[in-house]
Amino acid sequence: MRQLVDIVFDYFFPSHCIACGNPISVKDHHVCIRCFSTIQPLERGCKRCGGQLVNNACSMCSMRAWYLDMCFAVSDYSGTMKEMLVKYKFYKWRRLYKKISELLYAALLDASWDVDVVTAVPMAKSKVRKRGFNQSELVAKDVAQKIRKSYVPLLKEVRVWKTQKDLNYVDRFLNVLGRFAVEGKLAGERILLIDDVYTTGATLNECARLLKNAGAGKVFGIAFAKKALHDDLQ
Ligand SMILES: [Zn+2]
Ligand SMILES: [Zn+2]
Repeated sequence: MRQLVDIVFDYFFPSHCIACGNPISVKDHHVCIRCFSTIQPLERGCKRCGGQLVNNACSMCSMRAWYLDMCFAVSDYSGTMKEMLVKYKFYKWRRLYKKISELLYAALLDASWDVDVVTAVPMAKSKVRKRGFNQSELVAKDVAQKIRKSYVPLLKEVRVWKTQKDLNYVDRFLNVLGRFAVEGKLAGERILLIDDVYTTGATLNECARLLKNAGAGKVFGIAFAKKALHDDLQ
């Protein structure tokens, strides 16, 4: 029955791959199999922040208070991944969350972290109203279902500061202070925290700090993609 619905839908609403433009089925969720397979896992150095190791030492998280026990971004912000995220975030192509959660699920199976609860970097209500959805939360809920854990909205965005986009490394860590809050108390839970784009890790780190202060046992962070600090491409 589902197959028939897809065939009828494809006939009336032909869909095209966002990366190569080839015609695809609605069930491919905007990306063809070939383009999707070009998204490659990112080389992971430091287990705590995903940064590059030099002589077995991390030059990123060792310089500051780091609250994530482990963290990495699935892929880099380029090629099909970039096309997907631009359409998902800025053009509100909601169904792409399915493709992104597929990638996260595969990466999490590989990482085999023991987690109790899944949560996402929150978004202020005014921003959710504007976009229609919180891009990290939509993926996190789907990932939670896939790994059979509960999704719990543990954090909220209490103040909307300047966007992180135009800030330098240090300012990004200062800009996130006071932006989020934890709802309720935790009792040693191991939290899987999901964010969209990782640049300096400032947002994930601040959320992890608050979760640990509220009683989280461990915080594991995962982001969809890693973007260079001075990547001026959108
Ligand atoms: Zn394609
Ligand atoms: Zn590190």
